[in-house]
Amino acid sequence: MKKNNTENKKYKALGIMGGTFDPIHYGHLVTAEEARCQFNLDVVVFVPSGKPPHKKDYRVSDAKHRYLMTVLAVVTNPFFDVSRIEIDREGYSYTIDTVKAFRKKYPWSEIFFITGADAILEILTWKKVEEIMDHCRFIAATRPGYNLSDLDKKFKAILPEYSNRVETIEVPALAISSTDIRRRVAMDKSIKYLVPEAVEQYIWKNNLYKS
Ligand code: ATP
Ligand code: MG
Repeated sequence: MKKNNTENKKYKALGIMGGTFDPIHYGHLVTAEEARCQFNLDVVVFVPSGKPPHKKDYRVSDAKHRYLMTVLAVVTNPFFDVSRIEIDREGYSYTIDTVKAFRKKYPWSEIFFITGADAILEILTWKKVEEIMDHCRFIAATRPGYNLSDLDKKFKAILPEYSNRVETIEVPALAISSTDIRRRVAMDKSIKYLVPEAVEQYIWKNNLYKS
């Protein structure tokens, strides 16, 4: 118990990168790395979602595959880690539960939730958004086609008392999305250089996204 307490004190700041990661791609990895460097994060923990409440309508790949691809993708970065917290939890995955679990485990750390700019406005529709914001700050990264100052204005208009909890960062324009990768695989098109080599091999080996 004591050892754990010391362990958990070592992070001054940590990042959580949530996602379906179906599959994980270089857009996610570049965003996490940029956030780590700009905000001096000691670690970025990737949290593949279990049953995402907002993706009820499309078939999400088995959590086992999404978890393993995420592990394969982060092995080369000593500052990246993967958590099973959402995939081991029963029922739908809600970010509030995840953030609260991290807060409990790391009471002394500043926690940043990293998302793409498209996701930040969606967050306003999440369960208990104010409570989430009480526990962590947000880092919203640009994705091609999104205007950061517009986003800032929209955010201030909707949730003014929490706008100082949201930071924005510019990441090299990456138009990569998991949807596009799944589509490419289904059409037998190349996904080389869109995902790490090991993830690409994993997709072929396990026959993912073929139908
Ligand atoms: P899908 O197309 O299935 O929705 P996705 O590529 O958006 O997948 P998710 O797992 O839904 O990937 O995204 C996890 C997080 O990563 C979200 O916060 C999302 O905004 C962000 N993200 C996804 N792609 C990029 C990208 N190319 N650049 C920056 N952030 C991204
Ligand atoms: Mg998405």
